[in-house]
This record gives sequence, C-alpha cells and structure tokens, in this order.
Amino acid sequence: MDDSSPSNFIQQIITQDLESKVCEGVVTRFPPEPNGYLHIGHAKAICVNFGLAEAFGGMCRLRFDDTNPEKESDEFVQAITRDVEWLGFQWEGEIRYASDYFAQLYAWAVDLVTAGKAYICELSPEQTREYRGSLTAPGKNSPYRERPVDESLTLLEQMRKGEIAEGLMTLRAKIDMAAGNMNLRDPVLYRVKRIPHHRTGDTWNIYPSYDFAHGQEDAIEGVTHSICTLEFADHRPLYDWFINNLPVPSKPRQFEFGRLNLNYTVTSKRKLRQLVEENLVDGWDDPRMPTLSGLRRRGVPPTAVREFCESLAVAKTDGTVDMAQLDHFIRQDLNDNARRAMCVLKPLKVTLTDWPDDKIETLTAPGHPNRDDFESRTLAFSRTLYIDRADFSDDTSLSRKKFKRLVLGEFVRLRSAYIIKADAILTDETGEPVEILASVVPDTVGENPPEGIKPRGVIHWVSAEQSIDCEIRLYDRLFNEADPDGGDKNFLESINPQSLEVVQGCKAEKSVATAGPEDHYQFEREGYFYLDSERSEGDKLVFNRTIGLRDSWQKKG
Ligand code: ATP
Ligand code: MG
Repeated sequence: MDDSSPSNFIQQIITQDLESKVCEGVVTRFPPEPNGYLHIGHAKAICVNFGLAEAFGGMCRLRFDDTNPEKESDEFVQAITRDVEWLGFQWEGEIRYASDYFAQLYAWAVDLVTAGKAYICELSPEQTREYRGSLTAPGKNSPYRERPVDESLTLLEQMRKGEIAEGLMTLRAKIDMAAGNMNLRDPVLYRVKRIPHHRTGDTWNIYPSYDFAHGQEDAIEGVTHSICTLEFADHRPLYDWFINNLPVPSKPRQFEFGRLNLNYTVTSKRKLRQLVEENLVDGWDDPRMPTLSGLRRRGVPPTAVREFCESLAVAKTDGTVDMAQLDHFIRQDLNDNARRAMCVLKPLKVTLTDWPDDKIETLTAPGHPNRDDFESRTLAFSRTLYIDRADFSDDTSLSRKKFKRLVLGEFVRLRSAYIIKADAILTDETGEPVEILASVVPDTVGENPPEGIKPRGVIHWVSAEQSIDCEIRLYDRLFNEADPDGGDKNFLESINPQSLEVVQGCKAEKSVATAGPEDHYQFEREGYFYLDSERSEGDKLVFNRTIGLRDSWQKKG
C-alpha cells in the first residue's frame, strides 16, 4: 500500500485482516441497484471500493443488485456501466447481477424452510406491520409461524410457479419477534411479484428481498469486505444470521462508512427521478444534476470527481460537504488541463476605422499559458471585431481601478493582439451602443504601448469575419437552499428558477469549431466550457459552462 495516503478505518481493518490471515486477499464490489443513474454520492462509494482493491492489490467487482424488477431497467444498467468506466475504473471479470443467483437464492430459501428456519406467512401487509411491533414494543408471533415444514415447502413452490396472487403470502425467516433490532423480527425473504424482470423475463413470480439477497451475493462472489453506507449497519446482524445459517461458500464481513451529501443539491435517486419525471430538468444528464452523467455533460473531468472523492474522509458518520469543495477540484483540474480560447457571449461590433478593409493579420496565442504540449492557436485580426457588451462603457467618469475595460475615448488591450482606442459610438434609438468606431495603436502586439498610452486592461475579442456562432448555456445551482430536503421541507420548493440562462448569438474564435468530447475549454475571462453533444448538431454548436473562473456564490451568500 502507498504509505503516503492517509489510512482510513477500513484500510486499518483490512491491514489487520491480512496480517492475521482472516483473509488471503481483498475482494470488494460496487453494488448499485439499476433503478436510476449514479450520483456524486455513488462516486464516493466507487472510489472507496475500487480504491481499497487497488491499494491492497485485490479486486473489485461490479454487481447490479437487481432484485426489484418494477423500478429497474436495462437503460439504468447501461448508464451505470458507462459512468463507472468514465470514472476510469475497471472491474474484475464480467459484470455480475443478483439475478444470476436467483436459482441459488431460492435453493437456500428452501434450505431454511427445511431446517425449520423460515415459513410461509399469510398475514396481510397491514397485519404484518401491526405484528411487527415498534422500536419500544416487541412484536407478536405470526399465527403461521409454526406451520409444518411440508406445508411451507408446498406453498413456496406454488408461489414460485405463479399460483399465488400478489400480497397473499410471503416467505419469512423465523428469527425473533421480540428482538431489539427490528430487522430480526422475522424479516420477509420472498414476496410474490408477477412482474417481468429486465434480465430474467417472466421466469420468476417471486423475488428475494434486498436483505435476503445482498449478503449471499457477496458470499457467492468471495467478497471479503462488503463496504456499504451507514444505514445498513442495523441490517448487519441479519446478514450475519443468513451467512451463519446457510451453506454459503465464503463469509463476507460488512463495514459501513458515512454517506456523502453535498449541499445545494439532493443525492437520492428517488428525488432525482422525480426531477426527471416531472420535467423539471432536461433528463438524468441535465448539466445541473448531481448525477455523474450530468457532471460529464456539463464538462466536469472524471479526474476532478476522483480527486474530490479522494479528498473526503471515509468516516463512521454521515457528512455534508460544501459544493464549493467539489467546485474547487473542478476549477483546479480545468485550469491545468483546459485549452484556452476566446468567445464573446454578448457581442458588440467594433470597427477599426484605420485598418484596411481586406487586411487580415494572423496572430498566434498559446493553447495553454504554461503547457507546451498544447498547440498554439491562430487568431485572425481584421477590420471588424466583436468584444463583449459588458466590456465597454461610455461613462468616462468610471475609475480606472473599477473598470479595467474599454471606455469611450480611452485605450484597452485586446488579448494577444493590438491596443485599440474607442473613438466614437453608434447607438440605436434607445441609446444602446450598437457599434464602436475604434483605432489601432500600431506595433503593439506583444509590445509595451508607446509613452502616454495607458490601456485600462485586457479584454477578449474575436474577428467578425472569422468567428463561429454558438449558443452558450450558463448554469447555476439547481437549488437556492443549502439543505433543500432537510427536515420536512419539500425540495421542489427551493428549485432555483435562474439555474439556466441560454445565451444565443455568441461568437467564438474558429479554433473551437473542432470541439469534441475530449476538449475542455477555458473561454478567457468567462469560465470553463464544454461542448454539449446532445444539443449540438451539424453547424449548431452549443457549449455548457462547466464552471465560472471564480466562486460567485461566496459573495451571494
Ligand atoms: P439512493 O439513496 O440514492 O437511492 P442507494 O443507496 O439506494 O442510493 P444503490 O444503488 O443501492 O443506491 O447504491 C450503491 C452503493 O452506493 C451502495 O453501496 C450505497 O451504499 C452507495 N451509496 C449510495 N449513495 C451514497 C452516498 N450518498 N454516499 C456514499 N455512498 C453511497
Ligand atoms: Mg439501495
């Protein structure tokens, strides 16, 4: 193991297990249920599981826990697989599915019945709840608890064959209705569900509960350390009961760590699904979603997600992490790795009155200020240019300190190009500038200005003749509140109505015409941008703003 990495409590357990020969090697797994897309919380679980396997020279599997056919689908299987690959992890062997083990799980259920450790119960769902007791009151035994083994076996077989209607019977473990841990009060192992499964079709009319399946799946796969989140700590005694009462091929042990929650968003598949189904976002991969596919479409590099996850503690308490921490890793990654380019979001025409009509000068600018491996760009400097509307003011009283841009009658440097002076403005009938007439200070490309000429600052620009049109989508946080689903709040009420601004008619330098899925850009002075391949088509280019250059939320509060 790498000595420089901080050792969390699971790493300490594994180190001891290996020393004391509790296990030979390390096998972990990432076990998603294919009932939605993965979110940032899952990324942490992925990094923890694959990270442990990597650190100890072991292996990590990918297994779909597909025991609940009504909410699961192949679409989700595909999306999850893609996201794990995108993060850069490779699982051991084939992808596994809980449904691969349905026959084995059923055989084990029969074993339990035969051993008098499980029975068919005919209490209705309401009665079952009532008999279960509460945290303060013990439960009551089901009247079916002592029914003969043969009778239970016959009924279980009938359930399997589809001869029993939904809701009439369940298979329950016979453990202890007075147990302090409610999970041990004769939990349901199988229920009738006459629903086709995305992989097994209509082979099965009964499906195992998650609790009955999960630990045994790990045992079948030889998982040594079953890592999961804290909410399953109370289920551990039940998993151990199954493992100790069944002829399983290995004995996994479960360890729980705290879930990752991010502020200003929700990380519950149910709630994310609701956002999608109610069309409050543009699908699971909407760039505002905390899903991995949303982050990808927004332009977040997978390395930034991994760095972020690795920065988090693996602890025994749930924690809420500030979104700014994720943003920090995204900015850092993109600052190091994004190509530079210029794009004017709200174009204002500039005519260089002393520049010949047909003269185009080719200038060069670095692909990245401190990386030689990025090819430099060529910029066409021509008589008509665009600058951003926000970079010009006709208010000559603005102080140089406050407004380091172009002011009527003054000078500004165009990035990687000449210094120009705004001589006059043409306005529309409302007084809004529509064109600036400017002049060029000769010989100022890469050179200091002559005596007496003091540009206010440096602004970005593009050539009107050689720019390309694009649409830009500016995203903000999806929720206005730090804790949108805290307490008994309805998370839909704090959706930020300004979380998306679509800007059309933007003008980008021509080097971005070839943008593809590998290309992350810093549009200088504007932020980091990424081609939205869902919305771009042919000549129509749409860029998503991945993130601004600086954190604008600190100020907003
Ligand atoms: P959700 O509550 O969003 O539906 P889940 O736990 O039901 O999530 P699973 O598909 O069962 O989703 O999760 C697969 C694995 O990811 C589990 O081991 C689970 O513990 C882990 N996981 C899920 N959410 C988080 C999170 N927020 N932080 C860390 N790990 C998580
Ligand atoms: Mg789950």
